[in-house]
Amino acid sequence: MLKFARRVGRAKPSAIMIIADKAKQLRAAGRDIINFSIGVPNFLPGEHVYEAARKALASDSGQYGSNRGAPELIQAFLGHLRGVGLDGYGPANCAVAVGAKHILYNLAEALLDEGDEIAFATPYWTSYLDIAEILGAKIKLLPCPPEQNYKLTPEQLDEALSEDTRVFLFNNPSNPTGMVYSRDEIAALADVLVKYPTWVITDDIYNRMVFDGIGYHNFVHCRPELRDRVVFVDSLSKTYGMPGWRVGFMAGPESVAQAVVTLNSNHITNVPEIVSAAAVAALTGPQDVPEAKAREFESRRDVVLAALAAIPGVACPRPQGAFYVFPDVSCAFGKSHQGRAIANDVEFCAALLETKGVACVPGSAFGEPRSMRISYTCPADQLAEGMRRIQEFFAELS
Ligand code: PMP
Repeated sequence: MLKFARRVGRAKPSAIMIIADKAKQLRAAGRDIINFSIGVPNFLPGEHVYEAARKALASDSGQYGSNRGAPELIQAFLGHLRGVGLDGYGPANCAVAVGAKHILYNLAEALLDEGDEIAFATPYWTSYLDIAEILGAKIKLLPCPPEQNYKLTPEQLDEALSEDTRVFLFNNPSNPTGMVYSRDEIAALADVLVKYPTWVITDDIYNRMVFDGIGYHNFVHCRPELRDRVVFVDSLSKTYGMPGWRVGFMAGPESVAQAVVTLNSNHITNVPEIVSAAAVAALTGPQDVPEAKAREFESRRDVVLAALAAIPGVACPRPQGAFYVFPDVSCAFGKSHQGRAIANDVEFCAALLETKGVACVPGSAFGEPRSMRISYTCPADQLAEGMRRIQEFFAELS
């Protein structure tokens, strides 16, 4: 048997895709399935985005492009940065890649050698763990259970960081919890970060999907001196309903942007011209679709929370962004459903899918096995029906 690199053995298939595939199979077999499993926004961008892509197609150069990203796209991203209060960045601070996932992979490759420490909170987005494992980094997990609203506290951060922490990876708003840090919470964490010589990656791709007027806040807003080591990560995927277009961004120190550009030149060369033109149109065109969607998701969040509140024993911190709710369903563990024992989150989600046709992702995929993730972007009637079935499932536990 010819050998593979050790890092491939550390790579795992996505737990989210496993559930999504199972849901697809059941649907293909004729079952009525409600899919709360995949984190896709379920809307399409405005017509101006398609128009820009068609125009670019008509005048396509067919050539390689910039490793950093097309100059017009970098300018459009700089405009977006100013819109979220991140001023003073220029093109040399930025880079574009094939989605935020690719930006994060590039950043991890650029900043971590094997054995270097990366710290991040649980619950975490699944790829944080997988990317760090593939690269052989030393992973320090900072548990943030539902009792602390899934949020990192400054004391906990202070305790966890050390001179040896190479990267602190942060996510706000959070996938899977939907939690959003207030300005005061970000300021308190920033006060800790200034004490440690650590790169800080803030994966803030849901920054335009925040509710209840909480706003979006960044460590650099609170502590401008962190600018020389904070890297902001953004994406078109969720905000503009463009996950398949694969456009992600970073803004940070010039040296970090240059490292991403160098990795791009070896991985991808460039994001295609037509995709770049569509991305410019999304960032600079009318913003009514993302704004309307953020309001719509806010009211769906309320529907999900109200349905969960009616289930005895289920606790759910109130999310204020993205499109996820992450209830603690551990009250069901140790019970049984229609004679089938439920010991943990994986068995819970499997039984829910098989008996009620509702697909949710077990929390252990995100490092919190007491909970499960509900992604609520499906049509409103399906959302109501799916929540009704979840209530029914709980009522049938014995
Ligand atoms: N970060 C987080 C927190 C995400 O939820 C996702 C997508 N699910 C990504 C990054 C990757 O986004 P992209 O589609 O831009 O690669």
